[in-house]
Amino acid sequence: MTLDAADTGPTADTGPGADPATGPVAGPPRVRARPELARLQAMIDASRRIVFFGGAGVSTESGIPDFRSADGLYTGGGPIPPEVILSRDFIEQRPREFFEFYRRHVLHPDARPNPAHLKLAELERAGRLDAIITQNIDGLHQAAGSANVIELHGSVHRNRCRECGREHPLEAVYKASGVPRCGCGGTVLPEVVLYGDPLDRDVLEAAAEALARADMLIIGGTSLVVYPAAGLVGHFGGERLAVINKTRLDGIGRLGGRPGGRALVIAKPIGAMLAGVQVRQPGDG
Ligand SMILES: [Zn+2]
Repeated sequence: MTLDAADTGPTADTGPGADPATGPVAGPPRVRARPELARLQAMIDASRRIVFFGGAGVSTESGIPDFRSADGLYTGGGPIPPEVILSRDFIEQRPREFFEFYRRHVLHPDARPNPAHLKLAELERAGRLDAIITQNIDGLHQAAGSANVIELHGSVHRNRCRECGREHPLEAVYKASGVPRCGCGGTVLPEVVLYGDPLDRDVLEAAAEALARADMLIIGGTSLVVYPAAGLVGHFGGERLAVINKTRLDGIGRLGGRPGGRALVIAKPIGAMLAGVQVRQPGDG
């Protein structure tokens, strides 16, 4: 497989001066066609079992900053980095500080789906998209109406008392002060994957199966350097691969070596790109 961000593929020749219909005639400049969007559209129109694999960049367009960029907690001896705070050891040993950070930097209860979430839900309803695999924990794909969402890192919307097992909504964690408590007195823990946690085996299996069935894979808003993204996408054996990420496309080198097909690589925000896609029912002309 060849990865070439500059490649414009079969819909090339839409650049300035390349259109024979325009010719050298003077006049207002023709609006430049968008070969990237045209190629993405053609790939989507040819697919029935799209899988979308999304990372933090999908959520940042809804105003949710990547918590890895947040300031750590200052506790006298210097800042504690987010990767330490959001770990299983830390929530066990210093739960009050964990929840203080979690509420401030991880929970964003007012965030709403952006054009990327909405377009993906539309593609699923139209019978084009099979599954969304996400590294995000904010539940925005479901809020947009997507049904088959595989959440690799869990969800802030699932919270459970560690003593009695009762489930609690996001509000119970968000509105609590200090450590959220169940009516039974037990600590309410979010069912999210923390640093030091293994990923759920069933969830990983579902993701691998969806990728193995897919005829198109769209990777969006992730640099692909974070485990398990790079390994998981190896299960995809289809022809059509599109990678859409505003920055840091360095991780895509790991996708190389797969026979068949070329990757469409687009260095643009995922929401802006997907917003331009037309959703056509399979069978439409
Ligand atoms: Zn309880």
